[in-house]
Amino acid sequence: MRARIMIVAVALVSGCSSQVATQAVPQQDAAKVKQAKDAAAAKAAAAAAAKVKANELGQIPVLMYHRIVDKPGSDDDRTPAKFRADLDRLAADGYVPITAAEYVTGKIDIPAGKHPVVLTFDDSSPSQLTLDEMGVPKKDTAVAILREAAAKHPGFRPVATFYVTRDMFGKTTREEQAQTLLWLKDNGFDIGNHTLDHVNLRTRSQDEVSKQLGSIGKMVGDLVSHKPVTLALPYGNQPRKQAWAQKGDGYEHQGVFLAGYTPAQAPFSKSYDALNIPRIKAMDKKGDCSQFCSTAWLDWLKANPDMRYTSDGNPATVAFPKFKAPFLRKTFTTKALAY
Ligand SMILES: [Zn+2]
Repeated sequence: MRARIMIVAVALVSGCSSQVATQAVPQQDAAKVKQAKDAAAAKAAAAAAAKVKANELGQIPVLMYHRIVDKPGSDDDRTPAKFRADLDRLAADGYVPITAAEYVTGKIDIPAGKHPVVLTFDDSSPSQLTLDEMGVPKKDTAVAILREAAAKHPGFRPVATFYVTRDMFGKTTREEQAQTLLWLKDNGFDIGNHTLDHVNLRTRSQDEVSKQLGSIGKMVGDLVSHKPVTLALPYGNQPRKQAWAQKGDGYEHQGVFLAGYTPAQAPFSKSYDALNIPRIKAMDKKGDCSQFCSTAWLDWLKANPDMRYTSDGNPATVAFPKFKAPFLRKTFTTKALAY
C-alpha cells in the first residue's frame, strides 16, 4: 500500500516537472530570439548612423534676424532678397529648420543625414509677419518668404521662433494681436520672450526683471494659451543673476539665448549651457562679420563636417561616433547610439 502511494507521488512530481520543462524551453528560446533580434536591430541602427556620419553631439547654427526690409536701416536688417538667398543656401547645405523650443527640449526630428538650423526673429516687427484681409501673410514678410522656400525645397520645414515684445508685430488691439499670434501657433511657429519693453536686463533689479519677463509670458499665455519656452535677451545681456532670466512670476524658460557669436552646442552635449545659448547674426562676410556672422560660420561648418550636428533620422536616439562618447551629457546615456 505504502509503495503504491510512493509511485503515484513520484509520477505526480515528474509529471509536474516535465510540464515546467516543456514550457521553460520555448520561453528561453523566445528570450534568445528577442535578444538576437535586438542585437541585430542595434547593429543595423549603428550601421545606418555610420553611413550618414550621424553626429548628434555636433554644433547647430542658431541664426538671428531682426527686420526683413528693402532698405536696411542697420546691419541688423536683412533685405527680402538676401533672406531668400540665405534660405536657398541653408537648403542646399542640407539644413532643416527646427524651432528654439524643439532645440532646447531635444526634439530634433529631421531626416537622416540632415542638419538642424534654428531661425530666430527678434523684436516682433511687422516686416516679419503681417496678415492681409484674407488672413494670409503679406508678400516679402519673413514668414511668407520662409513658406516660399519650403515650397521650393521639399523637406525644408517652414518653422522659426519669434521673440516678441509689447510691439506685437505692430498690432495694438487685443483682437489683432491674438489673430497674429494664433496664426503663428496654428502654423507650427514658436513664440518666445524678448521682454515687455526691450530693456537691458543687466541694470535691472530682480523685481523689474521679473515684471519685464512675466508680463510677456502672461500676455502670450492669455492670447494663445501657450507660454514662451525660451527667452532671447535684448542686446544679449544677462541680468545680474542668470536665474532671474530663467524663472519668475509668470514664466519659466527652458533656454536663454544670447546675441553672439558662435554656433550653439547640441542639447545632448556636455558643453550645452541652457542659460547661455549663442546665436549668429545673419550677415555676409564683411567688417566684423568676416568671421563671426552667418556666411562665415556656415562656410566653417561646411568645411568642418565633423563639428556639425548631423541627424541619424531617429529622434529617440542620440547617435555619434564612439570617440565622441566623453562629450555626451549624462542625462542622455540611455538614448546613446555610439558607432
Ligand atoms: Zn531685440
